[in-house]
Amino acid sequence: TVTFSDVQKSYGDVVAIEHVSLEIEDGEFVSILGPSGSGKSTLLRMIAGLEEISAGEISIGDRVINGVAPQDRGIAMVFQNYALYPHMTVRDNMSYGLRLTTDLPKAEIDERIESTAKMLGIEDHLEKRPANLSGGQQQRVATGRAIVRKPDVFLMDEPLSNLDAKLKMHMRTELQRIHDDLKTTTVYVTHDQEEAMTMSDRIVIVADGHLQQVGPPEEIYNEPANHFVANFIGSPA
Ligand code: ATP
Ligand code: MG
Repeated sequence: TVTFSDVQKSYGDVVAIEHVSLEIEDGEFVSILGPSGSGKSTLLRMIAGLEEISAGEISIGDRVINGVAPQDRGIAMVFQNYALYPHMTVRDNMSYGLRLTTDLPKAEIDERIESTAKMLGIEDHLEKRPANLSGGQQQRVATGRAIVRKPDVFLMDEPLSNLDAKLKMHMRTELQRIHDDLKTTTVYVTHDQEEAMTMSDRIVIVADGHLQQVGPPEEIYNEPANHFVANFIGSPA
């Protein structure tokens, strides 16, 4: 369970997140959906430990993670631009985090990388560098690098936004399949309503740093909590 308890975040004078309380259950796929600048990435980056929390608490399980280093949080993240290491092969990109944060034997690391690569259909590209892969393949490497660590919580920030429409649809299905397989608690940031509606157990609608509504897709669509949600989702009036 990921728990936000009255969390706030300011960047200098800019209040990015105000009084957010939220519980994400084990195994859930939760999307954070909202317009540009609403605070989606900030919410995710606070779970990841990439932004300090100004007030309140975030816990993973029964552990408060305020102040815990990113690599000690049991999380893994996929970024919008993938953030692959350009000078490393796919294999090294995928193993780097594991080598840094665990003392798994090399054979076990290799085993995990190969099975994850197969799962994502990139097993033939392990010795290549990211620049020699297509956008879709790079996206898979970024996803593989995260899931190979078997995180407790899987964080994705607009992971499909750089893909063309067809590949986007395909990767949606693949990410869902991976979630069905692994049942890793997933927090998925997107500004794409359709993506959120089709992929999520629950959707968190955020605007202006406030949670507007939290609920399953049907509920958000059929019973929007306010005008903002109704307009944003395009619910029937
Ligand atoms: P997008 O869809 O464009 O990625 P977002 O919903 O992810 O937007 P955030 O990046 O979380 O939005 O930003 C929330 C607010 O905090 C915005 O007003 C933004 O300008 C501000 N902000 C984000 N990062 C910083 C920063 N490092 N310094 C100052 N202000 C920031
Ligand atoms: Mg963002």
